[in-house]
Amino acid sequence: MRLRLARRILSRRSRFVALEMRTRCERCEVVELTADGPASICSYECTFCEDCARTMDYTCRNCGGELVTRPRRLEQR
Ligand SMILES: [Zn+2]
Ligand SMILES: [Zn+2]
Repeated sequence: MRLRLARRILSRRSRFVALEMRTRCERCEVVELTADGPASICSYECTFCEDCARTMDYTCRNCGGELVTRPRRLEQR
């Protein structure tokens, strides 16, 4: 009789929790920001929509930092 290794291991999904993605612009709090959509972020992870970032001249109003385009998170398989 053979011992069966836990086959559940194979079905276990390896998920890791990464950076929390903010879902709303911190300035207007209206625009929904999706993980795969455009957004601007500063080094402290203040997150703004594109319109607000442009209005603020790409300077974070919270910390004065530079706003850059947030890398989009694409669906991973
Ligand atoms: Zn906004
Ligand atoms: Zn900031």
